[in-house]
Amino acid sequence: MTVSTLEDVESFRLRARAWLAENVPRLDPDAVPPLPGDDDEEWVKTRELQKKLYAGGFAGICFPKEYGGLGLSHEHQVAFTEESAEYEMPLLLNVPSFSICAPTILDTGSEEQKREHISAAIRGDEILAQFLSEPRGGSDLAGVITRADRDGDTWVLNGAKTWSTCAYAADYALCLARTDWDAPKHRGLTMFLVKIHQPGITMRRIKQVNGSTEFCEEFFDDVVLPANSVVGEVNGGWAVASRQLYYERTAVGGGSPYVSGRGSGRISQPKPDLIRIAREAGRSDEPRVREMIGEAHAMKRVQQQLIQRVNVGMSEGLMQPPAGSLMRLFRAETGWRTDDLAVQIAGAVGITGDAGAGRVGDNFLMRQGSSLGGGSTEMARNIISERILGMPREYAADRDKPFSEVKRSR
Ligand SMILES: Cc1cc2nc3c(=O)[nH]c(=O)nc-3n(C[C@H](O)[C@H](O)[C@H](O)COP(=O)(O)OP(=O)(O)OC[C@H]3O[C@@H](n4cnc5c(N)ncnc54)[C@H](O)[C@@H]3O)c2cc1C
Repeated sequence: MTVSTLEDVESFRLRARAWLAENVPRLDPDAVPPLPGDDDEEWVKTRELQKKLYAGGFAGICFPKEYGGLGLSHEHQVAFTEESAEYEMPLLLNVPSFSICAPTILDTGSEEQKREHISAAIRGDEILAQFLSEPRGGSDLAGVITRADRDGDTWVLNGAKTWSTCAYAADYALCLARTDWDAPKHRGLTMFLVKIHQPGITMRRIKQVNGSTEFCEEFFDDVVLPANSVVGEVNGGWAVASRQLYYERTAVGGGSPYVSGRGSGRISQPKPDLIRIAREAGRSDEPRVREMIGEAHAMKRVQQQLIQRVNVGMSEGLMQPPAGSLMRLFRAETGWRTDDLAVQIAGAVGITGDAGAGRVGDNFLMRQGSSLGGGSTEMARNIISERILGMPREYAADRDKPFSEVKRSR
């Protein structure tokens, strides 16, 4: 279906409203979502939903037309998200596929990578993941020790990555590797777009405290990568990673312009409905409980305003990309505080209750996730202090040394 770039937001909204009502199942408010990563059927359904959006002319709203998108504005995307709130959406594809990986490829990839991978993702044929963090730590991303060595026209990848969200269900991953050990740490890195299911890659699922197995770890043993899998420049991987981290902070902060529907449907379970929990616990008339509900509501409103302000600031050039850390930090604070309030309100019902309150306990076990995914809140505070407030930069003894001379544990 061809959509004119001149279509105004209101007519797009009305067209979306009619199409959704006719083609997409409505959400069941009482359904209990499966634990993240434990229901592979959900992935099949997700791909089908994305294909349906594509066939209906509502996929990749803000991605350029030449790469399979609709080339429409953020306002069109916001209108679609508002209209689709009551319908099943392929939320699993929001993070990291559409909000992080595809925009990074759009900004830094080759023409061939954009045409092939962005459009495949929009069609629902390809899912993208991130191979950044390593067992030695995720905060010091420029210190990765997974290596890629040139071998004629190809590269050979060796090392290990971890905490890759939903990589088991994905097809390709953006993988940061060291390609020059004599250059300082930020200048010897290259980003690769790696086919996940291929010889030399061993993947294991990581079981978390709440029973979920959405995270994976990967081990690379002489994985052969073609030359055209380099994203950006050889040894220019930090520039690509920086762009990726910018999109990640924006996505985790809830401000990505590239996603349909609310939330990721994965990083955590949907945020608890505190009013429903209070009713289930029989506490909705207690003044203190009402205050707690009010606090959560206020934080949510402030978060929405912050997202809007930072997005406008960045799109108009009044704020620089590090401002994404403001959204990311506030989202984490809102997330864990809401989980805490839910537990305080629910009490024992948080473990034994039904769909609404019954998930409070699961959410609480994962509450720290929002302070780590997309870079930790401490790193977000560092970025805000150094790059937004202009405070002195954290000392780093290894910044300008050849990486081969940097001391590290074996
Ligand atoms: C929900 C979720 C999804 C994720 N998805 C992915 C994914 O898809 N792909 C991927 O590659 N990774 C992913 N991660 C991993 C994530 O990027 C890392 O957890 C994060 O970068 C922190 O790294 P780490 O856990 O190794 O902690 P470390 O880097 O070991 O840090 C440990 C602690 O020390 C603090 N710290 C470290 N350095 C500093 C400093 N300079 N100043 C102040 N404090 C510091 C940190 O804030 C943290 O509290 C995910 C994590 C979560 C929770």
